[in-house]
Amino acid sequence: MTPDQLKNFIKDVPDFPKAGIVFKDIAPLLASAKARKAMTAAIVSNYKNQKIDVVVGIESRGFLFGMLLAEALEASFVMLRKSNKLPGDIEKFTYDLEYGTDTIEIQTDAIPNGSHVLLHDDVLATGGTAGAAVQLIEKIGGKVISANFIMELDFLEGRKQLGDLDIYSVLHY
Ligand code: 5GP
Repeated sequence: MTPDQLKNFIKDVPDFPKAGIVFKDIAPLLASAKARKAMTAAIVSNYKNQKIDVVVGIESRGFLFGMLLAEALEASFVMLRKSNKLPGDIEKFTYDLEYGTDTIEIQTDAIPNGSHVLLHDDVLATGGTAGAAVQLIEKIGGKVISANFIMELDFLEGRKQLGDLDIYSVLHY
């Protein structure tokens, strides 16, 4: 499937979660075994010549393809979660939103020092979440070698939050 064909599995939902926002819903992509396979294959082929030890998925939609990628790349999978969800020793990172702040967490011993990490989430929008995720992963000793997204909302310029990090987004809007 080409990226244009895969776009048929992303549904625009106007005025969600609030008026004026057009939410990109990945439910049709999840529902189709064929589209899921094609999406996973597109991402895996981009990384086939790179050494990836750990895939980190961002809660919660980043867990879905994150696990499929870890499986295909024969890598470890680690959850990066919102506040107060993970047990044991955790490291946190608090970042600014348009209004207020948000905190993400990871288990301190989740990533062996120096591991090559592929960060994955469904959408790169303003880049606030992914930027914070990179900082948190590096704080516990991981080396983020690339960030991957199902789709990137180019007009929000989220990649500016990721400096010169390699980024691969399958779909662009
Ligand atoms: P950012 O921090 O880049 O502004 O927002 C990215 C985060 O918000 C991601 O975790 C993503 O799941 C969620 N997000 C923002 N906009 C959308 C959207 O239109 N569709 C989906 N599925 N997720 C979105």
